Amino acid sequence: MTNVNTQEPSHTGGCHCGKVRFEIKGQIDNPVMCHCELCRKLHGHVSSYCRFDTHALQLTDDTGLRWYRMSDKTDRGFCKLCGTGIFWRPVRSSGMAVMPGTLDDTGTLMVTGQIFCADKGNYYPLDPAIKQFSQSDR
Ligand SMILES: [Zn+2]
Ligand SMILES: [Zn+2]
Repeated sequence: MTNVNTQEPSHTGGCHCGKVRFEIKGQIDNPVMCHCELCRKLHGHVSSYCRFDTHALQLTDDTGLRWYRMSDKTDRGFCKLCGTGIFWRPVRSSGMAVMPGTLDDTGTLMVTGQIFCADKGNYYPLDPAIKQFSQSDR
């Protein structure tokens, strides 16, 4: 069945236990994987992030949402009940990011790059099919 969508793109998602649910009304960027030590520590392994405009975020349930100030510059949003990592938010920016695994449907999103490859863990190889940056891509 063809669904003609004339509205802005919209993505819904949430944590594992369902006590954080959100909708992003607007464009979200393709995921970028980050190999840095901090990301690997916080997520248990490499994580990836889709940037979007902070104003596009609507929290439909934030019962479980907790923000952790992980550095001077960034906050991490996660569910305090089930532990799912969901958001990444610079302290001073109009943009933030969502971890694509928390989206209900990733649609046509596809990883476009991998950053901080110079800091990657020594327990896995880099995927040569994904564009590599030794540090940030911007
Ligand atoms: Zn949860
Ligand atoms: Zn990182």
